Amino acid sequence: MTTALRSAGTHSLGLRDPSLLEFRAPVAGEWIEAREGRRFAVTDPVDGSLIGHVPDLGAEEARRAIDMAHAVQPEWARRTAKERSRILRRWYDLIIEHADDLALILTTEQGKPLAEAKAEVVSNAAYIEWFAEEAKRIDGDVIPGATPSQRILVLKQPVGVCAAITPWNFPNGMITRKVGPALAAGCTMVLKPAAQTPLSALALAVLAERAGVPKGAFSVITATQAQPIGEEFCRNPKVAKITFTGSTNVGRWLMREAAGGIKRLSLELGGNAPFIVFDDADLDAAVEGALASKFRNAGQTCVCANRIYVQEGIVETFAAKLAEKAAGLKLGRGTEAGVAMGPLIDDRAVAKMEEHVADALAGGAQVLVGGKRSSLGGTFFEPTVMTGIRQGMKVTREETFAPLAPIIAFRDEAEVIGMANDTEYGLASYFYARDMARVFRVAEALQSGMVGVNTPALANEMAPFGGVKQSGLGREGSKYGIEGFLEIKYVALSGL
Ligand code: NAD
Repeated sequence: MTTALRSAGTHSLGLRDPSLLEFRAPVAGEWIEAREGRRFAVTDPVDGSLIGHVPDLGAEEARRAIDMAHAVQPEWARRTAKERSRILRRWYDLIIEHADDLALILTTEQGKPLAEAKAEVVSNAAYIEWFAEEAKRIDGDVIPGATPSQRILVLKQPVGVCAAITPWNFPNGMITRKVGPALAAGCTMVLKPAAQTPLSALALAVLAERAGVPKGAFSVITATQAQPIGEEFCRNPKVAKITFTGSTNVGRWLMREAAGGIKRLSLELGGNAPFIVFDDADLDAAVEGALASKFRNAGQTCVCANRIYVQEGIVETFAAKLAEKAAGLKLGRGTEAGVAMGPLIDDRAVAKMEEHVADALAGGAQVLVGGKRSSLGGTFFEPTVMTGIRQGMKVTREETFAPLAPIIAFRDEAEVIGMANDTEYGLASYFYARDMARVFRVAEALQSGMVGVNTPALANEMAPFGGVKQSGLGREGSKYGIEGFLEIKYVALSGL
């Protein structure tokens, strides 16, 4: 690759392999540059400085990518599972080998601390490793037939061309979880990453090509105007399935648009996770859990604790401990040593945080720590802990998606289950308790796709990640994660 071709970039970030910082997009088997100067800036959220420009593509490029994905899909699906598996495994190995560079690209365009970025890269590459193995386990069934001479043969086949749309908060991980199972199943993929964080997607595509993913089997459409591309994905008859991670509103829109073609859909949408601490819990473990869940990625995580319910007798101690820990979190540029929290992604995110804090204060809540923008300026916001929160305040109804830990006192199990489930969302929930009878009762009563009991860590490649209610459809990871990329066909075999 020549320097001239990658000229839209301004610097190499000091990568060990500078060719991972790609400013062109792989579309229909070719790395393309902006047409007629249509490109957009990718900036560092720490200070708004320019990292480089990428092509601002549209429906036309999406259509070309879909055509090519459609043309190459049958050949990809015809390869043996072992061959697809080998290529995916190579992709995984390359990601691990280049994890430091990928993390640096991620931190620079998204802002999270480098250690978190590296953890995102490595833990989500594991989905590719996992699905490389699952590719070889796509088996079917033989079922007795309706007559003695008949058998029912159940086959699983790839759905075909998949279109993926991913958000900026996990610019690397949200992609590997989708592309891994799709390619493993024998599908091909056209991806539209978030406009704030296209460079992580492009770097992954560079490595996919190096691993041997065929030309056109994985295209990336970088764009600022999402809707025309969403429409193309939903209306193009060659797209069989749409897999989306993002807000519930956009998920709802995609569902409506995709209804015309009865497209398969997987949706990983917003959350409003309750984090419950019962009075028999290990209090210090609960404080550590809340800290990790709430302030990781500056609270910009779909599964992060959005409402922290603490039983009356321990609420003051819990709040004081959490506030002390939160006050100790160092803010700054993600590449600096010791930094625990980066900036928020943009001004809109800061405005939402401020709105939720103001609404709670107006309702009589108190700020224990934080509550305001950081003196670092830009979009940095202090880690915030508030008490005196009541059910019904904005923080309890909407996803704050920022570093606000609102603490709500509760009386007993029945009351807290009622409050925890009082939301249209159902992605993650957490609770800390020791009484085993309570553990089973509460885990079963919480209306969410995932429940963390005495742990804030839910996502790994072996677990089925996903939500209920308006948090989505389908699961990513585990043996269930490949099913959304497969169709079931049954063949009636008759001896006569
Ligand atoms: P968003 O819905 O605004 O954007 C997500 C993606 O959708 C982006 O790529 C965006 O460009 C694209 N998009 C927006 N409108 C579109 C349209 N009309 N057609 C096609 N694409 C469109 O969400 P966001 O603000 O980027 O991300 C935050 C949201 O994502 C939060 O609600 C969060 O909870 C959710 N999220 C969910 C999960 C999960 O696994 N459930 C994971 C991460 C984030």
